[in-house]
Amino acid sequence: MDCLFCKIAAGEIPARKIYEDDQVMAFHDIGPQAPVHFLVIPKRHIATLGDLDEADRPLAGHLLYTAQRLARELGCDEGFRLVMNCNELGGQTVYHIHMHVLGQRQLHWPPG
Ligand code: 5GP
Repeated sequence: MDCLFCKIAAGEIPARKIYEDDQVMAFHDIGPQAPVHFLVIPKRHIATLGDLDEADRPLAGHLLYTAQRLARELGCDEGFRLVMNCNELGGQTVYHIHMHVLGQRQLHWPPG
């Protein structure tokens, strides 16, 4: 499958890996928007949030749990933001779901 994040998960394209287990992987974003900006992905290809099904509930929880645990490990105790973009209007550019984790700067609301 011609998917960038599947290739990163398979080790075929290099990334600055933070964590992996049998289900998920976390790596630094190539274009960081904050001093800490990393992505948490499922290793299995799921194109968009809209493609999650009932059986993916534990995986979705694992992504969320992993994101907050790594955020704290990377020094974001004072606060951080999780973002998942879905489809074109949502700003998604890589069609393999990923949770952005941003921290260590003041984040504002609403986002752009
Ligand atoms: P999206 O816009 O789909 O929510 O986010 C995609 C993210 O993937 C962007 O923040 C972008 O910087 C990041 N990205 C795109 N290509 C690569 C890559 O080859 N390596 C890494 N580490 N991040 C990437």
